[in-house]
This record gives sequence, C-alpha cells and structure tokens, in this order.
Amino acid sequence: MEIIDYKKWSNRATEWGADYLQNVGKKPVRPNITPGSIASLLPSNPPEDAEDPEVIFKDFENIVPDAMTHWQHPRFFAYFPSNASVASIIAEQLVNTVAAQCMLWQTSPAATEIEQVMVQWLRSALGLPEHFTGTIHDAATTATLSAVLTMRELALGHNGLQEGLFQQSPLRIYASAQTHSSIDKAVRISGIGQKNLIKIETNDNFEMRADLLEQAILSDIANNLKPAGIIICIGGTSIGAFDDVKSIIKIAKKYRLYTHVDAAWAGSAMICPEYRTLWNGIEDADSIVFNPHKWLGAQADCSVQFLSDPTAQINTLGLRPDYLQTLEQDEVTNFNEWTIPLGRRFRALKLWFLLRAYGLNGLRNMIRNHIKWVEDLEEKINSNPKFKVITNSRLALFTFQYAPVGEDANEATEVLLKKINNDGTIYLTQTMHEDQFVIRMTAGQFYCTREDIMTVYDVLENLT
Ligand SMILES: *Cc1c(COP(=O)(O)O)cnc(C)c1O
Repeated sequence: MEIIDYKKWSNRATEWGADYLQNVGKKPVRPNITPGSIASLLPSNPPEDAEDPEVIFKDFENIVPDAMTHWQHPRFFAYFPSNASVASIIAEQLVNTVAAQCMLWQTSPAATEIEQVMVQWLRSALGLPEHFTGTIHDAATTATLSAVLTMRELALGHNGLQEGLFQQSPLRIYASAQTHSSIDKAVRISGIGQKNLIKIETNDNFEMRADLLEQAILSDIANNLKPAGIIICIGGTSIGAFDDVKSIIKIAKKYRLYTHVDAAWAGSAMICPEYRTLWNGIEDADSIVFNPHKWLGAQADCSVQFLSDPTAQINTLGLRPDYLQTLEQDEVTNFNEWTIPLGRRFRALKLWFLLRAYGLNGLRNMIRNHIKWVEDLEEKINSNPKFKVITNSRLALFTFQYAPVGEDANEATEVLLKKINNDGTIYLTQTMHEDQFVIRMTAGQFYCTREDIMTVYDVLENLT
C-alpha cells in the first residue's frame, strides 16, 4: 500500500465503519466462539511477499467483526462503557494520519496547546476551580500510578528517585475496600507494596470511615511507618461506591497527606451540576482522574488527570536528558514530564471534536437519560418478586439477584447470568457484594435508547 492507495482504502474502511455502527445492534453483543478458534485461522508466520490489500480487507471482514465483543453495541451493559462517539472516531482518523509523537511542545505544538485547552474546558465543564491544570494519559491506571509515585516521592522528600526504597520506613497508602484494582497495581509497582495499602472499612453507605482512617494513620505513625497518601473513591467499579470527599480530605490536610481521587467512570457525570454533591469537597483534592473514554464519548484511550499543582508530579516523572532539550523549554509545557511514557499520542483532538460536536448540553442529556432509564429499569426489576435489587442505582449502576423461592440466590443468579450472555441480546457482568453473587447493570453506550435498556427486563422475563 502506497500513499496513493490511501484514499481508496481509507474510504473503504469508512464505508465499512459506517455500516458497522448502523448495524451493530443486530449482532449478538458477545460472540459465541471457543478460545483459540481465531488464532487457528491465521498462518503461523508472516508473509514473505506483499499481499493484495483486497485479500487483507476481506479477511478482516470475514474473521474479525463476528469474533469481537461489541463495545459500541447499544445493549452493552457490562463493566463500564467504553464509548466512541462518531465525532471522536473522526478525530482519531485524523490523528492516525498525522501520527505525531507528542512528547514535547516542539514535537507537537498544536497537540500540546489543544491538550492544555481541553483540560481547561473539562475542568470548567466539571465545575472544578480554576487552579486545576492537568494532562491526558492513556488510562486511569497510569494516572493513578503517577499519583502514587508522586505520593511516594513527597513522603520521601524526593529521595526515592535516587536512593530507591531500601532502608526507608515503609510508606502507607489508604483507600476504601471499594476502590479499583488499579490502586493495588499502583502500590505494587511503585515499590510501596500491597501490604502497605491499607483498606479502610466502609460505613453502611459504602463510604470510607473517616474515624477508622484517622486511627490507622495514628497507629502507623506510632509504629514508625510513613503515611504517604489517600486514594478517594468516586464511583467504585463494583457497585458505584462514593467516599465522602470532604471528611477524608479534612484528615488528609491534618496529616499533610496527598490525595488522589479515582473518578474514572463517575467523573463524566459531573458535567451535570446536580450530581456534583456526590463529590462535595473535591476542590481541595490534589489529583483527580476521570476517563472521558468511559462515559463521555471520547474513544479509548483518553484519561484526564487534574492536578491542583503539577510541580510534585513533574518533579517525580520529569527528566530532561540532553537529547530532549529544546530552546523554548521554559516558556512551554512538555507533557512527557507530566506522564510516565515519553512518547504520547495526540489525544486531545477527539475531545475538541467531541465537546464541539455535541456541546455540553448534548452530553448532559445523554448522561441524564442513561441515569433516568437505568432507574426506571431498576424499579421495574424491583417490582418483580423473582428479583431482588441488592444495591440501588448510583448514577447509572445498580446490582440485583435472581431469587426464585426455595433456591440458592447466588447459584440461581450465576446460572441466569450465563444464560443471559449465551443468549446475546444483552451483555451483563457480575460482581461479589457482601458475599453475594450479583449482576451489575450499567448503561452508558453513547447511542443507546430507553428501549435498549428496557430490553433487559424482557430478557430476564424470557429466561426465567
Ligand atoms: C475503569 C476504572 C479504572 C481503570 O481504568 P483504565 O483507564 O482502564 O485504567 C479505575 N478506576 C475505576 C473506578 C474504574 O471504573
């Protein structure tokens, strides 16, 4: 394929893509295939000679789409959504072609400056105060790791970077048991260690208990351990738990601990002012992550981290070897110094397209609809005695069990979930909540309708 062939094949891909998005709702959400069946269709070695693009394209059409789980399917209700609005897809097509590496302002002036402006736009859209700046990562996992490394270095007076963690007293990080496994990963790979992540018990409302947090900090200090930071959960993945930000940050300030808020999923909802009570006190956080690639409609990957002051993170992650020096470096932002990888994609363009193509009002409508429709579904499921709602809707997420009289609800729910997902009309996943096997229902696909969401009830009725 040469540059002259670009138009033909790109147009062909666009036509295929438009058709795919229009018809994806007719496919089963999840394919029914056995592990290994796709790999076995591919030769075990790459071709020695060039192949005809027509054949490559045909193989794609024949092999790939029907062997994919369709995340852009309007009845995808599993995990959390990974949305790709059409505007963001188009922006990514342009980014694919320009293919810039955006490590320095000099290597990508427009990308750097649009990234700065998009972080400001989103800061304002989420109602965060003006002192927040930030950057775009690939994933919330990376943003959280960046924050945990920053906590580590602040606690060690920036000595860990040089000396390593040898002969240091162990550092301690605190979080509730409702936080995502990316926090566990961050403490593991930052060298802090899993056993120094202290999971604080939650209260009846699944908020981290501030009294137990303070007790843990005091007891650690008394034992010569070094408290380093607190991770605050805003919209936990399992059941959508929200910590009480204000009471946690109050303690963080008392003991001078850095705070990082994981709002990977729920952050998008904060474009609607009425949900911001769910993170009251957020203005005093040090670091906040949210994924526009989950609910907002920016296609993956796109994870925004807001920082009240980027200095500590830049001092932790930034390096300026000779070959990365540029003349204007004190006047500009070189975003590689804010993030873990050196090389960076131009992720801001899809935000620019997305926010302009739908406007905040369009995006607010989408989110409000999802929340309302999920609540309607919850009500309907709850009114059927065969089912039991276990945790109520938090934004657009609730959990339930199938509880037919005389049967073990955990077992019955697990069997039902298998049936649902073999059926393929909808796709749901599970979690364990207080030793109960529950089905998670969450909606957020950019183009899903009330009817798509209500289909869940029909499927439940049909299969039980
Ligand atoms: C999805 C999710 C993550 C992980 O996000 P990635 O971008 O895939 O790393 C972290 N925390 C919460 C609460 C999430 O929902």
